[in-house]
Amino acid sequence: MAGDAAAAVGIEPRVGGLSVVHHLSVAWIALGSNLGQPDQHVRQAFASLADIPGVQLLARSNLYRSAPVGGPPGQADFCNAAAAVATMLSPFELLTAQNAIEAEHGRERVQRNGPRTLDLDIISFDSLRMTTQRLTLPHPRAARRAFVLLPLAEISPALSLGRAGRVIDLCRELDARDMEHW
Ligand code: ADP
Ligand code: MG
Repeated sequence: MAGDAAAAVGIEPRVGGLSVVHHLSVAWIALGSNLGQPDQHVRQAFASLADIPGVQLLARSNLYRSAPVGGPPGQADFCNAAAAVATMLSPFELLTAQNAIEAEHGRERVQRNGPRTLDLDIISFDSLRMTTQRLTLPHPRAARRAFVLLPLAEISPALSLGRAGRVIDLCRELDARDMEHW
């Protein structure tokens, strides 16, 4: 059927071992680390995201340094960045793959907002809205976090975070005094 549809618009479907892309989504991912060598964790995470089967890295932001928000006092500054990916995975499959990358980096969940070797959050997935125990989209806290919005604005200023509005507009309301390039 897919072949017929493709032929109708003059596209030669790829066959013979190559998979047909059934549905491609665009997802926006926030990266953060404040343990070990945070910039190394983030740089390696870009490569690990690109290595997930069914995921292609479309864009990556620069690396930023940000002061920790919440969590225990005295924890180190964070290295933050953002990535855009094209993916054939579902949001849950993507989150599972991201969790595996976090685990490879020795991520431990000891306390809320505590220090972490690597945090990979899905900020937005197509224009999906969902609230489940495991996944909320768009990410519920992204719209008020400078360390998410600034890197994201670099690669997608017009991205809409649902009711919260566009990344570029949210950036104008931010206090980003604590952020600088890594
Ligand atoms: P943090 O909130 O600091 O990122 P965790 O990485 O430990 O802390 O995530 C806490 C929980 O948030 C996880 O159990 C995860 O399933 C859930 N979660 C809900 N929505 C999202 C999302 N959009 N991206 C990533 N994790 C999410
Ligand atoms: Mg997380």
